[in-house]
Amino acid sequence: MVDINVGRLARWLRATGYDADLFTGRDDSDMVRTALKEGRIVLTRDGGVARRRVVTTGRLRVLHLRSDSVREQLRQVVSAFSLNPTHRPFSLCLECNRPLEGRGKEVVVGLAPTYVFSTQWEFSQCPSCGRIYWQGTHWDAMRSWLQELEEV
Ligand SMILES: [Zn+2]
Repeated sequence: MVDINVGRLARWLRATGYDADLFTGRDDSDMVRTALKEGRIVLTRDGGVARRRVVTTGRLRVLHLRSDSVREQLRQVVSAFSLNPTHRPFSLCLECNRPLEGRGKEVVVGLAPTYVFSTQWEFSQCPSCGRIYWQGTHWDAMRSWLQELEEV
């Protein structure tokens, strides 16, 4: 569960294929309750959350992120939980955290820009928001950075 104060981290975690729910609810107590109910680990810049009783007694896991840089935050998360950032990259929708579904070229006709459509063969789509994903240059850039992260 990604606290809003480290909100950008949610997209990066999704890019690596790790389920990341962005908390947009009322307050910290609400976040703690939701995380407990859904069995999630809380990622936050707020040290106060990590000092709550529910955390110090071990009922809830909280990772207090040290940096304001999203790269450093991701690095800390990967290291704290021994994640493999290239395990299942680009398997989740970056916007809504839902698993993507493979789509044939004929399905995405008119949904992807023409130049993309003519150069790509593999597409995936989010069943929730309908966004189409393909392995473009943005993907390459993210992938090379995730690989870099893995080597550290
Ligand atoms: Zn989506």
